Amino acid sequence: MRIGDLILHPVSDGTFIARPEYFGRHLWPGAHPEFFSRGHAAWLPIGCFLVRAGDRLVLIDAGLGPDVLQLPHGMHLAGGQLLTGLRGPGVTAGDVTDVVCSHFHADHVGWLFGPDAKPVFPQAAIWFGSADWHHFVARGHDMRTHIREGFRAAADSARLQPIDQDTTITAGITALLAPGHTPGHLCVVISSGQQRALLLGMPSPARSSSTNPPGTRWATSTPRGRPHPRTPVA
Ligand SMILES: [Zn+2]
Repeated sequence: MRIGDLILHPVSDGTFIARPEYFGRHLWPGAHPEFFSRGHAAWLPIGCFLVRAGDRLVLIDAGLGPDVLQLPHGMHLAGGQLLTGLRGPGVTAGDVTDVVCSHFHADHVGWLFGPDAKPVFPQAAIWFGSADWHHFVARGHDMRTHIREGFRAAADSARLQPIDQDTTITAGITALLAPGHTPGHLCVVISSGQQRALLLGMPSPARSSSTNPPGTRWATSTPRGRPHPRTPVA
C-alpha cells in the first residue's frame, strides 16, 4: 500500500483465534456466522506494519513473538511469523531502524527481545509511551520476564525513545498519545501528500469522528470491539 511517497506493508505475526465472547456479552455464541466462520471462531491476524520512509524502515508493533497465549473461552494467539513475513518486502531484523510500540501488551512487544533478553532488532530505536514503561516495566504488570529484562538492560541506552508528547518519528510518521487502552498507548499517523493512514494498535473507536480528515485510512492490529479481556494481550 502506498501512502504518498511512503510504502506501508502489513505483516502478520500469526493468528488470533477469537470467539464472540471477546467482543462482549451482547454477542451471543451464534452471532455473525459470516465473521466467526471457522468452528464458531474468527481467525484474525496479529497485525504489524512496516513503513519505508526514505532511509528509515519503521516497524509498527512487534507482535507476540514465537509463543502461544491461551485466553478464556477457548481463544488463543499463536505468534512467530513476523520475521518470516518481513522477508516478503526483503527486510531482515538488522535492517529495521525503528520499532514503534503502540502499547506494551504481549502481542505488541513479543519480538523486541529474545529469550536471552537480547534485542532482536539490533540497530533499531524503540519508541513507546513512557507511561507504559512505568506500568509494565517499572511496576511489573503483565509482561513476560525476558521482555521486561530486555527493557531494563537497555534502560540507559539511547536506543530507547520514551514518548510523553506527540512525536515525529521521521518525516511522515507521527506517534500520537492516546492513553486509555493502556496508560501509554500510542496511535501512529502515516502521512504523505494528500494521503494518510491511522494505525490504531487497538480496538477501534468510532470511525465517524469528524476530527478525522477526508482520505484517512484505518488500520488496526487487533479487531474492533470492546477493550480486551484482563489478560496480557492485544
Ligand atoms: Zn492491547
